[in-house]
Parts: sequence; C-alpha cells; structure tokens
Amino acid sequence: MLTCLYSHLSDPRTMFLVGLTGGISSGKSTVSAMLRELGCPIIDADLVARRVVERGSAAYRRIVRHFGPEVLLESGEIDREKLGHIIFADAEKRKLLNSITHPEIHKAMLKQIVFYFLRGYRYVVLDVPLLFETRRLTQFLHHTVVVYCDPATQLSRLMQRNGLDQEQAGQRVAAQMPLNEKRGLAKHVIENSGGREDTHRQVLRLHTKLEDSMEFLLVRVVAMATAAGLGGALLYAAKLLAS
Ligand code: ADP
Repeated sequence: MLTCLYSHLSDPRTMFLVGLTGGISSGKSTVSAMLRELGCPIIDADLVARRVVERGSAAYRRIVRHFGPEVLLESGEIDREKLGHIIFADAEKRKLLNSITHPEIHKAMLKQIVFYFLRGYRYVVLDVPLLFETRRLTQFLHHTVVVYCDPATQLSRLMQRNGLDQEQAGQRVAAQMPLNEKRGLAKHVIENSGGREDTHRQVLRLHTKLEDSMEFLLVRVVAMATAAGLGGALLYAAKLLAS
C-alpha cells in the first residue's frame, strides 16, 4: 500500500520527489536551509525519525515492549544514544528496531508529502542522510542531490563543528559510505568546498532547474487538461490523511 502510494505520488504527472543527501559535515543542512529559504518544501528525515519514537507513539510502545524499560531516560523518553549502542553491537536487534521504526517513518513522510501535494506543491525535497545507504527511497526519486566537499574541508569543518580531534573526526567520516561514491550516484552535485556564496549560487541554479524541470511543466499541462484525474488523486490522498 505504502509502495503503491509512493509510486503514485512520485509519478511525474502528479508530483516529483527530490532526494537531498551528503556525508557528515559536507554541508547538507546548509544547503537544505538555503532551499527552504527559497520556498522549497523540505521533509527532514532525521526529524521525522525522532518524532515517530516520541512518548506515547505506536513505535515507542513497541520499542519499550521489545527492548525493555532500560532504554528509557528518566523523563520517559527513549534514550536514543543507549538504543544506538545496543543496535550497533547486535545485528538482530538492529533489524528489529528498523522493522519497528522504518514503516512509521515512511508513513509519516508520506503524510507530509500528501500535505504538500494538497497545498499545491509539485515537488518535495526529502532530506535524508542515509539515502544511498538504505536505498529504499531512491526508486521513487526523480532527482538526487549530493552535497559534496573535499575530504580535508569535510574533516576540518567536522572537527570545528563537533569539537572533535582529527582522529575522532576521521573515524566518523570513515564509518560512512565514501562521499565520492555518493557523488557518483547522484544526478546533481552541489560542490561545497568553497565559500557559502559559491554554494548559494549553485543552490539557486538547482532551484531554477527544479522549478523549470520537464516534469513540472508536464504537471501543469496535465493538471489543466485532466482535472478529473487529479481530482481522483486528491480524493485518494484525502482518504489517506483521514485514515
Ligand atoms: P551536514 O548537515 O552535512 O552535517 P552542515 O551543513 O552542518 O553539514 O555543515 C557542517 C559545518 O560546516 C557547519 O558548522 C557549517 O556551518 C559549516 N559550513 C557548511 N558549509 C560551509 C561553507 N561553504 N563555508 C564555510 N563553512 C561551512
């Protein structure tokens, strides 16, 4: 059902989805903020992942049932760091946690996509740190964007931002898929090794491309010509929202 709806919503005649990713400290949040400022609707997968395990949610209850109250903070919230340590050391538990959280994350993201669709947006940017690692979403994306910077710049920005020494920062970078590899997988690359102004210029160009993309033009033509078809899609979306 979710796959079907994703396919429907990522059909370029309806709307299209843009995936934004990067490596740790390569500048994804910086680019995401620039796109948001230009009026792009952005769905932050990290934020969604935090929200779906908030106290009282279905995923929260299942996590407590399976992992026990020892994964809770005194406040009753999930201790994400502790949970992170547990699943880092145990592949089975990682699988279990993913099976609890991933469907909820996708459902929540879909609701936001539908919300933007109903507000008339024709594309949505999904800000997903592990886009190419998990690959679950890539089949639904019409554009993928990687924010890249050279390894020395990445390391020094990470050290500065997180207050890490060179070794600690190097370990964090090494734990991820190499940025170069991600760069090879993306349709668009924002080169963020230089200053913010230079990055901003590239973001403006990307924004223009997205706004002018063929899919977008097609949407407008199709939307005008087949209002009835879109009406069906809206009904479908409204039903989902109401469910
Ligand atoms: P990410 O979201 O990919 O982890 P951020 O956008 O948070 O990366 O950027 C990492 C750090 O580098 C932040 O402290 C940010 O302010 C800084 N930064 C990002 N882009 C630039 C740039 N072009 N010039 C200088 N500093 C930058």
